[in-house]
Amino acid sequence: MNSEVVTSSTTPDEQQQTHSTSAQTAKVPSDAVQKVNLLGMSRPQMEKFFEDMGEKKFRAGQVMKWIHQFFVTDIAEMTNISGKLREKLEKICEIKAPEVVHKNYSKDGTRKWVFRVGDGAGSLVETVLIPAEHRSGLRRTLCISSQVGCALDCSFCSTGKQGFQRDLTPDEIIGQLWVANYSYMEDVPVAERERSVTNVVMMGMGEPLLNYDAVLSSMTIMLDDFAYGMSKRRVTLSTSGVVPKIDQLVKDIDVALAISLHAPNDELRNELVPINKKYPLAQLIAACQRYIAKDGNESSRKHVTIEYVMLEGVNDQPEHAQQMIKLLKNLPSKINLIPFNPFPHAPYGRSSRNRIISFQKTLSDAGFVCTIRQTRGDDIDAACGQLVGQVADRTRRAEQWKKKVEQQNVIVRSQG
Ligand code: SAH
Ligand code: SF4
Repeated sequence: MNSEVVTSSTTPDEQQQTHSTSAQTAKVPSDAVQKVNLLGMSRPQMEKFFEDMGEKKFRAGQVMKWIHQFFVTDIAEMTNISGKLREKLEKICEIKAPEVVHKNYSKDGTRKWVFRVGDGAGSLVETVLIPAEHRSGLRRTLCISSQVGCALDCSFCSTGKQGFQRDLTPDEIIGQLWVANYSYMEDVPVAERERSVTNVVMMGMGEPLLNYDAVLSSMTIMLDDFAYGMSKRRVTLSTSGVVPKIDQLVKDIDVALAISLHAPNDELRNELVPINKKYPLAQLIAACQRYIAKDGNESSRKHVTIEYVMLEGVNDQPEHAQQMIKLLKNLPSKINLIPFNPFPHAPYGRSSRNRIISFQKTLSDAGFVCTIRQTRGDDIDAACGQLVGQVADRTRRAEQWKKKVEQQNVIVRSQG
């Protein structure tokens, strides 16, 4: 390893840069047996960690580069750290990504991983990487999960049907990005390793704004030049509309925002995205306007992305497109129409191609930038936003859901 590569920009002055984060501070464990995982530590946390050990805080930048830029998990390989400090670190720390229990690399370049993040069949999360050619070159977009399951129970979402199991920790969240990058670098000598993932979307399992501190801490690491150094325009947080947390996010970090809208009026949105009952559309749109107003000239905040899943006969009619135009007229936005991904027992169908195209045309004619999401990776069952097809669900909600569907089937059969 060429240690110059790592030390070149880690001057003590640069170490002064801090990132605001409300994540909890990591501590040196008193019990040396319980090793502390360095993978999920943001720079301020790691600087504090080194200071608490009586070490210089610029060590944080050095160690973060080894972990997130050169994908080193063995502290012994960190050659610009003194032997004595390395020995000390080895006793109390580890660098541990979540366990991969399944991986699948598709012919079209899509990659998918299933991680085990606890005991039991319900403790699995998925991560998908989708490559796409773009004007600026090849994009590799990673769709990251933030929770095991989700408490919000949107009616078209298989994660919601699983119920909520638990929040992911920062090392489990950033670990997904680490594993995806490393998957391209495993056979590359350490000195030549580079980061391959170009974009991150927090659109996997879970509602990221309901696991706020861990998600914020992880996104801080994504943007940090001593780690992934990603552009703020290339990290997108997707939310179903947790309004107070959108306002908090404005204060804490600058990333792109996507809103899972899915319905243009409160009545329909209450049904599809139940959190709408708590934070109705007027409040949600106002929060998006505040998000943009904070720093309107910054390109990450010039607009919000509006996600709209196309459900046949439910939200895909001409009047819905007209309502969208009215609803969004004062919100700089780009609209992304998502063909519905069916899952077992789903009570919806995917809108026809023609229906989606005519919906798009109505919005484009009204002056909106409106795209249709391509469905990719079908051969490995990978679809961003609907990642849990294979994951066992054993929650009460899942049971209730199955019962409800069975009952409906009985009614339909008896009517037929
Ligand atoms: N909880 C966050 C992020 C995860 S969901 C949110 O709701 O925004 C990521 C995206 O996938 C959301 O827009 C979600 O509505 C969408 N999605 C969920 N289930 C889907 C399905 N079956 N087909 C297509 N998109 C789906
Ligand atoms: Fe949760 Fe998002 Fe799925 Fe709704 S769409 S249940 S918020 S993961």
